[in-house]
Amino acid sequence: MSETKQRVFAFGKDAQGNNVTEGNAGMNGILGGKGANLAEMAKIGLPVPPGFTISCQTCIDYSNNNNTFPEGVTDTIQKYRLDLEERIGKRLGDKDDPLLVSVRSGAPQSMPGMMDTVLNLGLNDESIHGLIKQTQNPRFAWDSYRRFIQMFSNVVMGVDGDLFENAINARKQARGVKDDTELDADDLQELVADFKQIFSENVSADEYPQLVVDGKVAFPQDPDVQLDLAIRAVFGSWNNDRAILYRKQNKIPDDLGTAVNVQCMVFGNKGNTSATGVAFTRNPANGENEFYGDYLVNAQGEDVVAGIRNTSPISELKHVEGLQDAGKELEEVFGILESHYRDMMDIEFTIEQGKLWMLQTRVGKRTAAAALKIAIDMEKEGLITKEEAVMRVDAEQLDQLLHPQFDSSKEYTVLAKGLNASPGAAVGEVVFSSDDAVKASEEGRKCILVRWETNPDDLAGMIAAEGILTSHGGKTSHAAVIARGMGAPCVCGAEALQINAEKKEAAVAGTDITLHEGDVISLDGTTGVVVLGAVELVKPTLTGDLDTLLGWADEFRTLGVRANADNPEDAKLSRDFGADAIGLTRTEHMFLGDRKSIIQSFILTDDPAVKEKALSDLLKVQTEDFVGIFKAMDGCDVTVRLLDPPLHEFLDDPRSLEVEITRLEDKGGDPDEIASKRKLLKQIDSMVESNPMLGLRGCRLGILYPELPAMQTRAIATACAQLKKEGLNPEPQIMIPLVASVEETKVLREEIQAVVDEVAEEQDVELDLPIGGMIELPRAALISDELAHYSDFYSFGTNDLTQTTFGFSRDDVESKFIPVYLDRHLLKANPFQTIDPVVADLVKDAIAAARKVNPSISAGICGEQGADPDSIRVFNKIGVTYVSVSPYGIPVARLASGQAAIEAKQGK
Ligand code: PEP
Ligand code: MG
Repeated sequence: MSETKQRVFAFGKDAQGNNVTEGNAGMNGILGGKGANLAEMAKIGLPVPPGFTISCQTCIDYSNNNNTFPEGVTDTIQKYRLDLEERIGKRLGDKDDPLLVSVRSGAPQSMPGMMDTVLNLGLNDESIHGLIKQTQNPRFAWDSYRRFIQMFSNVVMGVDGDLFENAINARKQARGVKDDTELDADDLQELVADFKQIFSENVSADEYPQLVVDGKVAFPQDPDVQLDLAIRAVFGSWNNDRAILYRKQNKIPDDLGTAVNVQCMVFGNKGNTSATGVAFTRNPANGENEFYGDYLVNAQGEDVVAGIRNTSPISELKHVEGLQDAGKELEEVFGILESHYRDMMDIEFTIEQGKLWMLQTRVGKRTAAAALKIAIDMEKEGLITKEEAVMRVDAEQLDQLLHPQFDSSKEYTVLAKGLNASPGAAVGEVVFSSDDAVKASEEGRKCILVRWETNPDDLAGMIAAEGILTSHGGKTSHAAVIARGMGAPCVCGAEALQINAEKKEAAVAGTDITLHEGDVISLDGTTGVVVLGAVELVKPTLTGDLDTLLGWADEFRTLGVRANADNPEDAKLSRDFGADAIGLTRTEHMFLGDRKSIIQSFILTDDPAVKEKALSDLLKVQTEDFVGIFKAMDGCDVTVRLLDPPLHEFLDDPRSLEVEITRLEDKGGDPDEIASKRKLLKQIDSMVESNPMLGLRGCRLGILYPELPAMQTRAIATACAQLKKEGLNPEPQIMIPLVASVEETKVLREEIQAVVDEVAEEQDVELDLPIGGMIELPRAALISDELAHYSDFYSFGTNDLTQTTFGFSRDDVESKFIPVYLDRHLLKANPFQTIDPVVADLVKDAIAAARKVNPSISAGICGEQGADPDSIRVFNKIGVTYVSVSPYGIPVARLASGQAAIEAKQGK
């Protein structure tokens, strides 16, 4: 490929102090988030160490081209590197005053800790002496060199990190010291030699012939080679396993690539006037308008995130001697960044000998509670509009707020306390490794992942676990950041836990308790509490900020949000959650439990009297059901779907019955009992279908057993009449499931209407109940104009419509092969979760055709996709009147509908 587009972009100042920044925050897709924001910060005059960014497209071209740089790129990188040396007045590898750079990844969407970073690049056996000369600090210089070799070997060359940790421990033992900080310059110099030896022994000469010196692999001394390998490693890390998994989890496309940022190093480990830290301009856990974060004096950036040393809160920085000025400047920078980006920002900074440097900023990740508070506060502060506030909260994330909490009315004893890193509570068995967490979840066991500290390799386990507990690290540690992003409860830094991951146990300091794998614990990420045993959990209620923001979303939304609710409790909950109406009451759930025997007697008998009795019993209980629901939803539509599933679902399982008969026969049981069970088995067998989901179900049941829809209609109409007489305002609608043809719809409609009229007359109440069809088959969608003559409303059952359009059995494919299809990109999304574009087209065309016949016909969606924000965006565009979702999905659907309407207004 020829060099037609700019691939490398400078940021920061030149030697004369002129700003030579070539990018800006709008170039996220080209420079990645880190690069674009470094450029933006440099552009607005914040102190950013100079450097350059290699574009994301280069990464994609590199990997598509079998890990080869596109033509001309190496020369361009070399040009920018020389320019950077010129701007700084130092050279990589220089023996008198060396330039050191960091090489960091930075994708268009933040993927914290998933890809590679190398620090202190440019050090070698000569430039180490230049660094000593310049800093007059041999300990610092040797420490920097050993860190570089360690990181380069591990990250770039894939050498096992434990080998280096073991060497450090061996050296500490030999010196009789406990902490790394107690090792002096001589120790560190010896460690550098040890590390180079480890490098030689563990890097393959065949794979890296360019590193062979005198027949042996040697740590690369040439900065060109160091830089080339580091850039390749960062590009390569786009496709490492954990990055791929993270993208899948977070719906980030695989074809974005990562940029590489090469930037002058600044050092937070140059003594007590140096420091490094990570911070947020507001509290990312609860949204409070306060500076939030941690710093470490005399440390390098990775030390804070790794949770190796205990950090201090950022608010103290401006009071620390030698760091006051930088601390105050940092708080000013917080203000500048917030008003510039008009959002809560996440920041990485370093103070080198009293001078503040900004290393990164991005819009900060936050919990759902914080997102709500920040959006509402910023609107009140006049920083953003109401529309922006609504757009600021991730609809899917809202779910977090509906997560369980410890039941405060129950007593429990606190086993340990840590930091409240990510809200929500969880109960599960203790596991000590990511693999064990994955295994537990595969076996259907709920677990809590307990780690000293997590690292990116733990991602799969973190996803599998109900909650995460660590004994080390602050609220900005890996565990905390990732858990918050996933909405998983997390307690971190619970220092009382003395974890021995190998033995799979953790002693709890101050107690005689030792946790073993499989022990059940509970944790509350909202308070930081850990409890031995299972604490009862409760779901929180919808109040405060959530209510305010959903109210704002309601002001914008044009889609209705209804509930799928089958009983008065769910109906009430749905109303509390702000549902406009009930879009789907599945009546089959009303036939379970102790009522199963009534429907069984209807199905199995040939005796008209028994049938009659079953129907009248069902009528009685159904009428009570509807009275309860219509009362809870007084004044709102309630769409009641007539019986839908194949009847044998109400019968006993023939296999268990057969086993029972054989057992009875074996032990010489009562012949009459055996005979009657055999008769039953024969009856059940005769009803079994090969493809029940395509068999005798839906409206076909009503055609074959007209007594059933008649009984249900009578119950609906009677409940309605009764409540009307009580002065209430019930609004039921009767829905016919799985219609395929005009003929069946017409027949059923007439039968239903006749019963409604009968009840109206008997009760002497006017009843005008809409009767509509449920569109769940492609045939129905394709003749929706004809069906519209017999339907007062439509509701699209997109679960069945997806099943029948794809020919995918909805009960099987999600576990059997959809994951494989997703992995292999044969499907963009699970169509049972996010509406498929072709199914959406069927819905769109069906609505348009029906509205030619009946312009005001309403069209709902009552499949699971109705609660999915991506699908809601589609439904908003294709003429859908409302989505109908389960009660806990209502807040998400309200917000997502508001956002879809705002986007539509903006022409998106
Ligand atoms: C549907 O098919 O989308 C639907 C809502 O009905 P059910 O899930 O009950 O089949
Ligand atoms: Mg259905």
